[in-house]
Amino acid sequence: MINTTDFFKAQKLDDDLYVITEAGIVHCYLILGREKAILVDAGFGYEDIRSIIRSITDLPVMLVLTHGDPDHSYGSEHFGDIWLCQPDYGQIMGFDTKPERQFAAASGVKFLQENKPEAVERFDSKAFAEKSLLRALTPHFVKDGELFDLGGKTLEVIYTPGHSYGHIMLLDRAKKRLFSGDMICDYAIIFFFESDRNAPFSMALDSWKKIKRLEKDIIDIYSSHGPNPITMEYVDAYIECFSGEFQQNYLKDKPFSIPFLGCGYQHIYKTVNIQYSDKRLEEFLGHKVERAN
Ligand SMILES: [Zn+2]
Ligand SMILES: [Zn+2]
Repeated sequence: MINTTDFFKAQKLDDDLYVITEAGIVHCYLILGREKAILVDAGFGYEDIRSIIRSITDLPVMLVLTHGDPDHSYGSEHFGDIWLCQPDYGQIMGFDTKPERQFAAASGVKFLQENKPEAVERFDSKAFAEKSLLRALTPHFVKDGELFDLGGKTLEVIYTPGHSYGHIMLLDRAKKRLFSGDMICDYAIIFFFESDRNAPFSMALDSWKKIKRLEKDIIDIYSSHGPNPITMEYVDAYIECFSGEFQQNYLKDKPFSIPFLGCGYQHIYKTVNIQYSDKRLEEFLGHKVERAN
């Protein structure tokens, strides 16, 4: 029997693949080889995800992070050793502050209030906000094309900057599965707010084109948020959007704001749903953006 907890829900997708969803919003994937397993992303870590993993497998588990945002990285504290692309170690540490942790803690409380009110008391949100990853992690930096051999299964690192500077995906060529993090999602994703945390649009476009070139090795795309699996059509939509559609239509975009995270505009095209600032758009267009509203 697979465990469930106040925050985590796990589902078997195949003999070698499980999805563990935290707080109804972040998908972490457990991929099993013969000798080892990989956990793709660790979630917020409101609880220790290892209790779920242990109900699925006894294999040693390596934690690989697609990127360093809190909803993927805070749970790293339960592992210590992490495999990720170098720039996103900075991303993890940049987000490991009290205000950011308080925001994440409040989101956890909100999830319980709405979904499992009897569990609110069990979650020590204050202690969660006080934690720090600074001395808790041992990073191992991975490079584009690097292979993880799990025994009878190999996963390949695909470097895909955009949503963050060090974003990576993992490709299982034998099963034609891509674990796409926050770069390919059926979900509203903050791609480019005013910060150094998001890479320029042009880098994201290059990443989507790179994934498109791997098309023959990909059928199912497992993302960190929203419905799964999704298909290469999502990648086509990103490429179409950023190859001209966005540049032509951004003036029709509506203002958008999220408390705490900031404000900007939201662009929707087919399955693409991006939240961005004009500063990042101007960088992409190479000229000033004048809006009537
Ligand atoms: Zn993210
Ligand atoms: Zn995310």
